[in-house]
Amino acid sequence: MGRGRGVAPHYRFFGGKGGVGKTTCAAGAAVAAAERGHRVLLVSTDPAHSLGDALQRPLSARPRRVPTRRGALEAMELDADRALDRWIAARRRLLRTILERGTYLDEDDIDRFLRLSFPGVDELIGLVELARLARARPWDDVVVDTAPTGHTLRLLVMPATLERIAAVLDDMQAKHRFLAQSLGGAHRPDATDALIDEIATEGRSLQALLNDPDRCTFAWVLLPEPLALEEAKDGIGALDRAGISVSEIIVNRVVPPPDRACELCDGRRRAEQAAIAAARAAFPRRPLRLLPDLADEPRGVAALRRVARHLAAPPSQLGGGLRPSSPSEGATPQARPQGATAPSETSPQKPIARAKSALETSAGTAWLERIAPPGLRLLLFAGKGGVGKTTCAAAAALALAARAPRADILLLSTDPAHSLADVLAIPVGDDPHSVPGAPRLRARELDADRAFAAKRARYREAVDDLFAALRGGSRFEVAFDRAVVQDLIDLAPPGLDELFGILTVIEALFPEPGAGRRYDTVVLDTAPTGHALRLLELPDAALEWVHALLEILLKYRKVIGLGELGMDLVTVSRDLKRLGALLRDRAETGLVAVTRPAELPRLETHRLLQRIGRLRIPLAALLVNAVTPPGCARCRTLSRREARQLAALRRECRSPARGRCGIIVAPAVAPPPRGAEALARWRARWELDRETR
Ligand SMILES: [Zn+2]
Repeated sequence: MGRGRGVAPHYRFFGGKGGVGKTTCAAGAAVAAAERGHRVLLVSTDPAHSLGDALQRPLSARPRRVPTRRGALEAMELDADRALDRWIAARRRLLRTILERGTYLDEDDIDRFLRLSFPGVDELIGLVELARLARARPWDDVVVDTAPTGHTLRLLVMPATLERIAAVLDDMQAKHRFLAQSLGGAHRPDATDALIDEIATEGRSLQALLNDPDRCTFAWVLLPEPLALEEAKDGIGALDRAGISVSEIIVNRVVPPPDRACELCDGRRRAEQAAIAAARAAFPRRPLRLLPDLADEPRGVAALRRVARHLAAPPSQLGGGLRPSSPSEGATPQARPQGATAPSETSPQKPIARAKSALETSAGTAWLERIAPPGLRLLLFAGKGGVGKTTCAAAAALALAARAPRADILLLSTDPAHSLADVLAIPVGDDPHSVPGAPRLRARELDADRAFAAKRARYREAVDDLFAALRGGSRFEVAFDRAVVQDLIDLAPPGLDELFGILTVIEALFPEPGAGRRYDTVVLDTAPTGHALRLLELPDAALEWVHALLEILLKYRKVIGLGELGMDLVTVSRDLKRLGALLRDRAETGLVAVTRPAELPRLETHRLLQRIGRLRIPLAALLVNAVTPPGCARCRTLSRREARQLAALRRECRSPARGRCGIIVAPAVAPPPRGAEALARWRARWELDRETR
């Protein structure tokens, strides 16, 4: 039974690392709510949408009816770029007036700024758009499938950003008000003031909504893996600090008991039970819900109903055969302190002496020649969250280091949710860290916030210098302008930190004299698909932004010259051009698309390949990870299904546009390989698929 008209909807966010099944859980929850008689809006805000795949129907940026037995369900995939365009279009005239009143920008400059788009802006507008849709019709529930962790957390701090934007615009108006008053009149509030009020109010009301557990709850989805738990602790901690209520933790894809002894399933279950016990210990006061691993991916409303049933059962009655057996089965909680690196989850099954030889002898395999021909400078690993991108990138970097022991190689993670340290089982931070067993390989988890904070501090200083030099003319105007420019720097688009992050690649390959080590090759572990792609599209967009800034600086050049800020921008502009050229260089760059032999990852891989084709980034290979070896009955069933997906991926590869794309097959192992030794043993079992050799 639906609640009455005019009642505000209840928001349910589903979040977690990429690939944990957020989309399936959100869709399942939406189906369940609708069939309880509710009017439900189901929205994906992940830029790499897969909600349409889960519902088995094409979706767009408009709510579309999904047939259910009762209630009403409409689903949509939010198009942040279009939403932003619409938002600005409706306010363009007033924004332009405020910018004209408050800055020295002329009409052309202002229009250019209003047209620029950046990654990160989608999170900002995502929340505003959600609120708009929720107001448009009387929904009982708004269910949100969010982007992977780092980006979700950013979405949720957006109300504060909106209030900040309002403050910047208000600073711009201050000059106008001051001038109006000093000309003898009083400033009469007009439509521009109303717009500033509107933005500030929207920010405050979104904040109030997110912090009200009666109107908004958050379910955290994770897989029963130790790495997932660390990220869950960070993420849930961040949500708690932001005053957002995480009402439930969903442990998804728990492996059921096999019908006979099975190396893979037994190994998985042991690792899972330890991880579930650790999750219970880490979140003692929150309900933990276990969902079974359904051998076939639930697609379409009927299949999602099964997920819905598991989601609707009270957490205490869950499990049956799923419930982790008593701790006597060796399920010791292994909660470890925040920030600590993985202890040896590796539990090497083989003596170290044998593993050493694996490290040494696995050089020169066919798959390695395929993805890393001589002269390669940049090897990118991209793919959907949860496909094992980081593990694959680390294994490949170790293989490269074994093949060319004299080469300096940097394994760089730009995924905001880093897991290199866990995969390598060594401490890794923002400074390059050496990897045991590979003397000239360094690993680094880029802290993009830190890199950008340093840049921002430099810009603020440069702006202070610039305005100090300008003082003496029209004193008041200059003071107002300085506040505005400082505000603009503080308000740099949210994706700008990632942009400065990826320029690290250029600094590593072509360092300025005396600016640190020069690397021969960079292996780049990128953020999950949607964001990685936006980032790879960024050099061109960012170049426009830098040029716009430079042109404004040129207006001041007569007074003080270009100064340090100008020099910085010139350097950034040069590096961006270099990066753009490198990314398209077939001899020096290759991208490995990591996927799994399952339908949803395959569909997303199809879209990924299309987009990198349009970006003209050379594809080196498809890496199909976690292919099930035959074992118990369930594993054999899985193996047959995977063979069909593999065949479809081969067809994908054969497309003439792809050139010589090979498929690399990597087996599923449990527990997942952690540490250089285990990674070497694992990659020794990688094979170049015969049919695509
Ligand atoms: Zn099995």
